Amino acid sequence: MPSRRPYVTDAIVLSRFELGEADRVLTVLTPDYGKLRIIAKGVRRPTSRLGGSLEPFAELRIALSRGRTFEHVTQVSVGHAWLRMRDSLESAATAWYLAELAERTSLEGGVAAPLYTLLRRAYELLDAGMAPGRVARWYEMHLADELGQRPEVDRCVECDRMLEVEESFRWVPVLGGVLCQRHPAPPAWRADLSLEALKLLKAYQRMDAEALAGLRLPASVEREVEAVMREFMRHVLDRDPKSLAFLDEVRAGH
Ligand SMILES: [Zn+2]
Repeated sequence: MPSRRPYVTDAIVLSRFELGEADRVLTVLTPDYGKLRIIAKGVRRPTSRLGGSLEPFAELRIALSRGRTFEHVTQVSVGHAWLRMRDSLESAATAWYLAELAERTSLEGGVAAPLYTLLRRAYELLDAGMAPGRVARWYEMHLADELGQRPEVDRCVECDRMLEVEESFRWVPVLGGVLCQRHPAPPAWRADLSLEALKLLKAYQRMDAEALAGLRLPASVEREVEAVMREFMRHVLDRDPKSLAFLDEVRAGH
């Protein structure tokens, strides 16, 4: 953590809330200082110089000075507003979901450069028009990797044997990935995983985002992979992200 001297950092706004008459508190992710809680004093007054630049999910360059509870924002410039990402409600709801995952898995005051780069790249992809579901799966897979919880999709999590295409698979997040057919499993773990979904999970680990964007896939396989990754992230976070309910509502409304 820097000393009392003002300092400048890149930051992506993860969430915010209004405080008092005119202030706003933001949670931002920064490459070098991890997650920070910052306050923009007087930002909701029409005369504020900080004004509309402190939007959620924008990449900013901000000058901060140390305060007692929060860092104080003294200057802001917008690096990337990612305006196209906000055009579609599904893409905007996905941006919120990605930000929530980042907020829940990052620490205050720690270096977060890999996570920052991951979130930034995901927003670039959304802004470029990549299907929100694919961006989200790509991000979840890489986030799990960053957290040291990369799902095992090549070997059985129990016996370490390479999985063969002709067998049947079960997805067991609590064990860290795929369980082969040789092991008895309690009924709660009987979530069968199709071979197509297993292949797509491998693709999310191995292929770059551009190649993933170009894949032609049956909707049923994408839904299956969405469900299994959701289950996996629930296990990683130990709860359901709040933003998922909104994302589901948005998609149901389409
Ligand atoms: Zn096994």
